[in-house]
Amino acid sequence: MRGIVYKADGDMQVETVPDPTILDPDDAIVRVTKAGICGSDLHIYNHGAAFGFDAGCRVGHEFIGIVEEVGDNVTHLSPGDPVLSPFWVSCGACHFCRKDLPTSCVKGGAYGFQPFWRAGGEVQGGQSEFVRVPMAEGTLDRIPESVAGEEHRSKVLPLTDVLPTAYHAVRCAGVEAGENVVVVGDGAVGLLAAHAAQLFEPASVVLLGHHHDRMRIGADLGATHTVDTSVDDPAELIGNLTEGLGPERVILAISSPETMAFAMDAVQPGGAISWVGMEVFLGAPEIAWDTAFRKNVTISGGMAPVRRYLPEMWTLLEAGKVDPSPVLTHDLPMEVGADGYGIMASREEGSVKVAVTPG
Ligand SMILES: [Zn+2]
Ligand SMILES: [Zn+2]
Repeated sequence: MRGIVYKADGDMQVETVPDPTILDPDDAIVRVTKAGICGSDLHIYNHGAAFGFDAGCRVGHEFIGIVEEVGDNVTHLSPGDPVLSPFWVSCGACHFCRKDLPTSCVKGGAYGFQPFWRAGGEVQGGQSEFVRVPMAEGTLDRIPESVAGEEHRSKVLPLTDVLPTAYHAVRCAGVEAGENVVVVGDGAVGLLAAHAAQLFEPASVVLLGHHHDRMRIGADLGATHTVDTSVDDPAELIGNLTEGLGPERVILAISSPETMAFAMDAVQPGGAISWVGMEVFLGAPEIAWDTAFRKNVTISGGMAPVRRYLPEMWTLLEAGKVDPSPVLTHDLPMEVGADGYGIMASREEGSVKVAVTPG
């Protein structure tokens, strides 16, 4: 089969790779119908060697597909079922899975993140024609029938990671009706955080970024205001919206020292900052704990427990209350799928996120 592999920093390629097989009775093999390239995949593209990636490592952790084959222990899924996989595999039975924190599953791990894979084994990337899914019953979720058709795949694929990650940021921030929200970052997660924030009927959602094409999408998805921070200081607008008090909620879709410092300064006393950006692996942002103390700021966030949110996500998607598909600006055939990394890494005009579709 064909799959995207990491070759070296700045070099991803589509290669012929071994077909996955059932290695454990809890496994399933999924035929991928659509995969996503994630902002966190760009960290592999840009810094894979520093993270410990070897040449030939298969990548990708966002995919939907059709069950092709199941191991002997898998009784709730059958070949032919349309399924979605969160980016993190989980057993569904351990202490943390039962506490709705599947990303802390004691047996868990991510697809396509070879150096971070704690449980061992050959869990390979999702940007491939087929994927072996360990602990299939704890990991995979059946796609509801009403959105299982091919025409819905661009709406469904973002539920593997970016939409639940954005939703997690909104929930961690604790957005409530009538509040003012600032979202920092105009990548897919930032745009979808503006989208998800609207579910809680805030007074305003200010999206900060510096790509006009992306911020237009953010405005369509629910941002009430957008500010190009390379040109304008958002302080005046935020001051006007909040009577000079600052936003109650600041959502960091980019978790850098600069964004954290901005958030701590801007947030209203008693407010909250949530953070979901993976930049933390490139140098954790310092937190001004003295300011946090003085202002009683709640800091919350982390890796999104996607599996926990899927029931809500399906309900919202089926009701038409969310549609994350506008962030998928490109959809490439698998054979040229590796080009998606260059498109995303160069922030090509009109690009946010690239999907890859096996032939
Ligand atoms: Zn992702
Ligand atoms: Zn578990």
